Amino acid sequence: MHVQGQDRYQATLFPERLDELIGEDNPVRVIDAFVDSLRLKALGFARIEVKATGRPPYHPADLLKLYLYGYMHRIRSCRALERECHTNLEVLWLLNRLAPDHKTIANFRVDNRWALTRVCRAFVQFCRSQALYGGELIAIDGSKFAADNNRGKLTRKKELKEQLKRLDAQISSWLDGLADDDDDEPPPSGGDTQAALEALKAERATLTERIQAMDEAGVNAQPDTDPEARLMRHGQIGYNVQSTVDGKHCLIVDVDVVHDGNDVQQLYRMARRTQRQLKEQRITVLADAGYSNGQLLKRCRAHGMSVYLPVQRSINNHGDGCYFDKSEFTYHGKGDFYECPAGERLAKKTKTSRERHWLYTTEACTNCEIKARCTGGKQRWVTRHFEEDVLNEVADRSAANPLMMQRRKGMVEHPFGTLKRRMDGGRFLLRGLQKVKAEMALAVTAYNLTRAINLLGTRQLCQALAA
Ligand code: SF4
Repeated sequence: MHVQGQDRYQATLFPERLDELIGEDNPVRVIDAFVDSLRLKALGFARIEVKATGRPPYHPADLLKLYLYGYMHRIRSCRALERECHTNLEVLWLLNRLAPDHKTIANFRVDNRWALTRVCRAFVQFCRSQALYGGELIAIDGSKFAADNNRGKLTRKKELKEQLKRLDAQISSWLDGLADDDDDEPPPSGGDTQAALEALKAERATLTERIQAMDEAGVNAQPDTDPEARLMRHGQIGYNVQSTVDGKHCLIVDVDVVHDGNDVQQLYRMARRTQRQLKEQRITVLADAGYSNGQLLKRCRAHGMSVYLPVQRSINNHGDGCYFDKSEFTYHGKGDFYECPAGERLAKKTKTSRERHWLYTTEACTNCEIKARCTGGKQRWVTRHFEEDVLNEVADRSAANPLMMQRRKGMVEHPFGTLKRRMDGGRFLLRGLQKVKAEMALAVTAYNLTRAINLLGTRQLCQALAA
């Protein structure tokens, strides 16, 4: 005989309470305790106060609990969450058997998008109070998340300009036609021609507006479904998610979503936000080569941060490898010049503002005996970055501690891996920058909740949240 279950038609004298079915160590209890510990009104949630008239709304706490549960269990769509409210025992317990419809669930996430980012910060502050953050070692990383926009649904500025050209030609030919007609008799379809011309002009105005909008945003293409997303490398349409992770337990400290597909402008901004979140000044920051930026490294140094990253510089001309490398030129701070292998002094001559380089050279190259080993041009030019000092400092520090780069990988890969797995491989459901920020905030809060449960356990965490 096989193992037998309980008869589903069996009546009991004392029916089980829902709470008895949820174990003391069930993580869903942490979500409940965390949301109950929040001051939702101060965080900016709507509908805290109930109006005297009309249908009473759902309490934001219930909907927030539902979303946090969903993001912890890879259930993100409002229809799927609605289904869980009817079938999932943990959700039945969490929401006291409330079952909001999918529209109410969807509106909550959109209407409270700012408040959701504050919830994420509130949990970081709670974890700080439990000494779960070390506040010493921070790793910054960025990853591309796909927007809710099909790859093929994209309008390029080039195409719009061509369309505009064709439209202009059409309008002028119609205007010419009208002028010819005016010379003779009015055309029988004169009214329709005028209306069609107006329609063409309206189309032209729309095209011009779209081109202007792209110019203002500094982009050459705009997605059709989510116009706020950007065309990233490899044809992906999405957003760039930036996050900082603490070295002690790999908890996420901060997250942000930006349009810029490149990480090069993000180092200082993310590091400063992290300093404020952790209320620590002297942090060590780990980042990859994509964050190498002399100006921002200088600002990080000014704020007491010690940064480790592989410094990227433009390659100085050394031909096919047979010319002298830049390292064979000695820089003299006193006098601000380079000394070349022939012992000549290369003085500062000009600069390239775009690359932020000073250029050094000497007239002595013309008669130099070893010129064939130095340059194929008229004279050798040596570049020096505007922020060469700080770049050298970071490069030396990073070279002296190669393990730091390995450490960075270990810290940032796990959180992003988990976030992407929970978000269908890294795909947003909502459209627009602020809405995807809210989605990311929910995902990060859910990640940190899971991590904190693994570290402290449900009971201890619930006790701390209730205190
Ligand atoms: S070519 Fe110019 S820079 Fe190079 S070694 Fe000769 S003098 Fe110096």
